[in-house]
Amino acid sequence: MPVDMVLRGALIDGRVCAVRVSGGVVVEIAADLRASGDERTLDLGGLAVLPGLINAHDHLSLDLLPRVGTPPYPSAYAWHADLERNYPVAAIQHRPVAETDRVRWGAYRNLFSGVTTVAQHGPLPFRFLIPGSLPVRVRLPMAWAESLRMGPDVASRARYARGRMPFAIHLAEGVDETARGELEQLDWLGALGPGTMVVHGVGIDAQGWRLLAARRASLVWCPRSNHFLFGATAAVEEVPPEVPIALATDSTMTGSVTLFDEVRFAASLGKVAPERLLAMVTGEAARAVMAPELGRIAVGAPADLIALPPAGSAADTLLAALPSTLALVMVGGAVRLAARRFAWAGDLEPVTLGGERTHVQRGLLALTDRLARALPAGFPSPALAQLS
Ligand SMILES: [Zn+2]
Repeated sequence: MPVDMVLRGALIDGRVCAVRVSGGVVVEIAADLRASGDERTLDLGGLAVLPGLINAHDHLSLDLLPRVGTPPYPSAYAWHADLERNYPVAAIQHRPVAETDRVRWGAYRNLFSGVTTVAQHGPLPFRFLIPGSLPVRVRLPMAWAESLRMGPDVASRARYARGRMPFAIHLAEGVDETARGELEQLDWLGALGPGTMVVHGVGIDAQGWRLLAARRASLVWCPRSNHFLFGATAAVEEVPPEVPIALATDSTMTGSVTLFDEVRFAASLGKVAPERLLAMVTGEAARAVMAPELGRIAVGAPADLIALPPAGSAADTLLAALPSTLALVMVGGAVRLAARRFAWAGDLEPVTLGGERTHVQRGLLALTDRLARALPAGFPSPALAQLS
């Protein structure tokens, strides 16, 4: 439940200020504020406050898995074929876990890196359509297709989504001729337009980026996954600046364990400045998922906020962030993760995350008990290993 509160001592864009949160929304930002009525005060003592992060591409039911495959591959199609032929274990070893629990875990693993909104690529169990049923926001409604070859119903799904919701598709995911031709094919189907989220785009060239811009589509960039599978990633440095780019993890089968790691990996490639990387997990990602009210700290916007120890600019703070240093995650005014001193502010339970004691949305301990009973002994899950 969101609690009406005043966050004091919040360092936002280099200025210490206070934020009043009421009904899950930011209602006032000023140099300082006092709580009134039933409001509680949470004194952040100079912690840096950033907008809650947006992970624009994940498969929540696959986030228990380690990276799987024998790269490099020419394309994601080759990876899929290899998995089917040679890695039956990859597909089945987490099946003893109920899909609902795999999705719950996927939501927690996002929470651990300050994600307040995730875009799910794939079906979502019915019960999670209810807002607040997972510890992070899921961008809903959302249309998707696996890929041009695997479908399903690319053209009709894209047409249905147009103007209503984003439509995401794995595209040009590879370095071969097939990948290079996919953007034009998508356009030929009439499936490239405003709200289309082109996920990966490794095979897109300068002409393709101009087409993406002309159709007002967006790019979802998952460099860790791309480098794992292909040893290469999208030429984001060539993308026209008007195209929103969202930086995302993809699932742990190919991508980073945390969005923080993904930001650092992207930074290590030297393609874009740290300030742009921050935008790619906040404001630009919000445009890509057609939720412009998210990814910013402003009066009238949902109170999706995270607090971290400051490390210079907001972008530098993000680059230094770890799950173990995350002091607060608020989703729509509800505290979902908090350091011990803020643990009173939500319905939380203590856990060890990255070697440090913290508090997260109640339900994780019961979930990890069920996972431990269902998974084979010694199941190698890097995401689960964070809880030690
Ligand atoms: Zn994916």
